Amino acid sequence: MHGKEYQANAKKTAHYPREFALYYVAMGLAGETGELINKIKKIIRDDNNKLTDERKEQIKQELGDTMWYIAMICEETGLNLDEVMEYNNKKLLGRTERGTINGDGDNR
Ligand SMILES: [Mg+2]
Repeated sequence: MHGKEYQANAKKTAHYPREFALYYVAMGLAGETGELINKIKKIIRDDNNKLTDERKEQIKQELGDTMWYIAMICEETGLNLDEVMEYNNKKLLGRTERGTINGDGDNR
């Protein structure tokens, strides 16, 4: 599946107030990111620092939830997910090639 198809399918399942759309999906991403991190935290607390198949499945589900909100932020801002993925890959690969992957600043 590509980003374009994912984003189109995500849009079909979107139900939130239009007047607050961008704020709604941004807050949703923050919430789902918290859920994701909480599942990872439980590897330490409950799983003796071992990644179990059950925890991996939970992480997959939360990654999907975060991806849905990322796709909807794209939708609400007129971006497309493929474009964002391509941009991010190019940016980070360029930093790797230039030896600037470590350090600070958005434009390295
Ligand atoms: Mg969730």
